[in-house]
Amino acid sequence: MSTEAPEPDEVTGPWWDATRRRVLLVQSCGACGHAQHPPRALCVGCGSGRDLGWTEASGAAEVDACTVVERAMPGFDPPYVVARVRLAEGVLLLSNVGAADPYRVGVGVPLRLDWRPLPDGRALPVFIPSEE
Ligand SMILES: [Zn+2]
Repeated sequence: MSTEAPEPDEVTGPWWDATRRRVLLVQSCGACGHAQHPPRALCVGCGSGRDLGWTEASGAAEVDACTVVERAMPGFDPPYVVARVRLAEGVLLLSNVGAADPYRVGVGVPLRLDWRPLPDGRALPVFIPSEE
């Protein structure tokens, strides 16, 4: 079982390093207050590249959109949920929801953060329904 993950670069490096401590970071702009994910070299809100920093996500989230995948993928046994997750901080990220019954995951379901370890010590943020 393996999961391919992108190599960190100068923009995404701090984000990936934080996953080693199981900390989910959200990039935030000191100039305009915009929060964004994935990490970028420039703020999507105001275009500044100088005032980008990081805030630690609480881990609270909810399903914004989702689908159940019934085909096998490396590292994922079907059926599994691919979801667009909205963090409490307002940003969206594409992730996996590990639910006992994938077909009961729907829009608005509250989630909590979990981690899927990678062989190199990094981890992928994944989610579990809060009630499980
Ligand atoms: Zn900005």
